[in-house]
Amino acid sequence: MPAHESPPQHGDAKVPRVLLIDDDDAVRQAYAELLSNSGTKVDAAGNGIEAIALLQQTPYDAIVSDITMPGMDGVQFLRAVRDLDLDVPVILYTGNPALESAVRAVEHGAFRYLLKPVAPRELQETVQRAIRLHGLARLKRQALELTGHSGKALGDRAGLEGRFERALKTLWIAFQPIVSHSRRAVVAYEGLVRNDEPTMASPHDFFDAAERLHRIHEVGRSIRKHVAEACVDAPPETNIFVNLHPFDLEDEHLYAVDAPLSANAKRVVLELTERAPLHEIPDIRLRVRGLRALGFRVAVDDLGAGYAGLGALAQFEPDIVKIDMSLVRDVDSDATKQTVIRSMATLCGELGISFVAEGIETPEERDVLTQLGCDLFQGTLFAAPARGFPVPCF
Ligand code: C2E
Ligand code: MG
Ligand code: MG
Repeated sequence: MPAHESPPQHGDAKVPRVLLIDDDDAVRQAYAELLSNSGTKVDAAGNGIEAIALLQQTPYDAIVSDITMPGMDGVQFLRAVRDLDLDVPVILYTGNPALESAVRAVEHGAFRYLLKPVAPRELQETVQRAIRLHGLARLKRQALELTGHSGKALGDRAGLEGRFERALKTLWIAFQPIVSHSRRAVVAYEGLVRNDEPTMASPHDFFDAAERLHRIHEVGRSIRKHVAEACVDAPPETNIFVNLHPFDLEDEHLYAVDAPLSANAKRVVLELTERAPLHEIPDIRLRVRGLRALGFRVAVDDLGAGYAGLGALAQFEPDIVKIDMSLVRDVDSDATKQTVIRSMATLCGELGISFVAEGIETPEERDVLTQLGCDLFQGTLFAAPARGFPVPCF
């Protein structure tokens, strides 16, 4: 079918391409025009098989599709898309909403699930947002390659899936103590995900694969289940810190009263990292309030590594702040870091926020941090993350 040409002033190389699938000629025509008007080049198909044939020839920046179409249902279509392209965002819509199909669509990695009739503006904005996020993900991957942090041969889908499955099956949690230096006592343990698949040994590579396979929620659920099981063996009186991936906040399972971790909520601190764009999570304040209502406390992790401005601090006033280890590194010989950390520790004290310094490797770092007003420490100087609940040395 003919492509709907986008406004010429965009210059073809930069014009995002959208694949649109609907078996209703009138709807397809109307949506194609709408998307062309917002500056995208649209290829249209009348069914899933035609769409897959187009996808085999052309990389798209976003796909928009009716969930019910002849010859293939929405989930089958999503599977076929993911076999060809791990990353392209897929927006599904339906005139016949059923909770089950929505849940299945999202589980299979649909970017959004919209209800027909879709308001023109909503469709345009959702597609624009999907295109931008897709662009951001591509840039992130480029940046990771440039900085030597890229995952290992993540492009091969079959291989990636197999290795990811192995990582998920062998997932376990290492714990690292957080200590009060003045009391020479362990106050908490942070759970850090580990697995026995060598190519996904670093959490970063594991989460990158999970993101690309749209399986973050499964990973989050598994981590929380393992942590909940381990809570039984954790030394009494210690809190348990659990990292959340930003996408975990969009998983309803996190908020379920009968989820395994919820039973331990009173001793659990959920860490949200400043490295991720938390402000992009819809209703983040409400979500954090929901977690607090379950009894969880909330920490901002990696403060100083991510977004400038008040960011997460203002959005949900954490109970605990953990400063990024790049601020801690060599703090004993860096006057600027000392000034920043002293001010942060003072402000947190005034706000009633506990202040944790992580990544402490040397006695010199520890001693300077103590002089600056820090008392809660985490780092290999005390104990490295390990199976069980390692005992620190002071
Ligand atoms: P993070 O939450 O800031 O965790 C601290 C990281 O610093 C951990 O790396 C830990 O092993 C490491 N570390 C601890 N002490 C020292 C030290 O003295 N020196 C140095 N150089 N490093 C130290 P890890 O385990 O590789 O985790 C990296 C990041 O991956 C974490 O940073 C967190 O953002 C993410 N992550 C790890 N486990 C999980 C998890 O269960 N769920 C989620 N969503 N993210 C996780
Ligand atoms: Mg953390
Ligand atoms: Mg951290």
